[in-house]
Amino acid sequence: MSLLVVGSVALDSVETPHARRDDVLGGSAVYFSYAASYFTPPRLVGVVGEDWPKAHTSLLDERGIDTSGLQVQPGGQTFRWRGKYLPNMNDRETLEVHLNVFEHFDPTLPDQYRDSQYVFLANGAPTTQLRVLEQIHRPRLVMADTMDLWINIQTDELRALLKKIDGLVLNDSEAILLTDDENLVRAGKRTLEMGPKFVVIKKGEHGAMFFSRDATYVLPAFPTEEVVDPTGAGDSFAGGMMGYLASENPAEFTPHVLKTAIAYGTLVASFNVEDFSLDRMVSIQRADLDGRMRQYQQMLSL
Ligand code: AMP
Repeated sequence: MSLLVVGSVALDSVETPHARRDDVLGGSAVYFSYAASYFTPPRLVGVVGEDWPKAHTSLLDERGIDTSGLQVQPGGQTFRWRGKYLPNMNDRETLEVHLNVFEHFDPTLPDQYRDSQYVFLANGAPTTQLRVLEQIHRPRLVMADTMDLWINIQTDELRALLKKIDGLVLNDSEAILLTDDENLVRAGKRTLEMGPKFVVIKKGEHGAMFFSRDATYVLPAFPTEEVVDPTGAGDSFAGGMMGYLASENPAEFTPHVLKTAIAYGTLVASFNVEDFSLDRMVSIQRADLDGRMRQYQQMLSL
């Protein structure tokens, strides 16, 4: 089934306690679409500037990602983000953000994308996320991501968005900020009351919590020793999750189906953090994910 992602396409500079990389391929829509491409060929909508290396588009094309919605703005510069990870590799500081062409990103979807059945509104202004949603005819499943900035400065628009989507993914500190509740179980349930049918709270190396009207559960992260660069963990998680759902296109989004999807999201993210940029994901195949799934299932069986 068709899967659409709309979000940032970036050149990231990342510093960890052990190494650094400058101007590498990144952005929420890039991580999401690459992760989803193990399951189904996604459609990507984003914007870049003239400085965008064509080789990056080729890398996405080679995975079957439809990049016809990636607009190159003449005379513009690509969105740039610079971040630094603390020694625990979970917490990070944003050192620089240059929105550049992303500042006025107000996508008009290509006609052939408007029938998309599965839609991911990656982290962005809720006003933009709402406008994208209005352009899609009858999606089966819409999920969105958000961040502290939007919770703080576009609270009303975010509340309006939450009434129109099926699933929200956000991290623990964002859930606390959104609901003003430090207890994550209550925070998850309060987020549900704001409109979505389900909520996934990501807790980095501590896994993910799921909330719907019928079920609450927690899945651990896959324990990996090799955490090189956590950038894109959240987006690759969402990409694995929605890629799986779009490829299965289940009759109903039961808590059980969503649990398998969250498990696949967890596993793609666990590979993604093992190297900078998309480097680790580039080196794996679907069979590697399925191999890790068998280990994960064994780990969880009681
Ligand atoms: P994650 O680690 O999953 O939160 O995603 C990190 C990615 O998000 C990086 O590749 C950044 O380029 C991108 N990013 C950082 N800040 C923003 C922002 N304000 N809006 C959209 N994307 C962003």
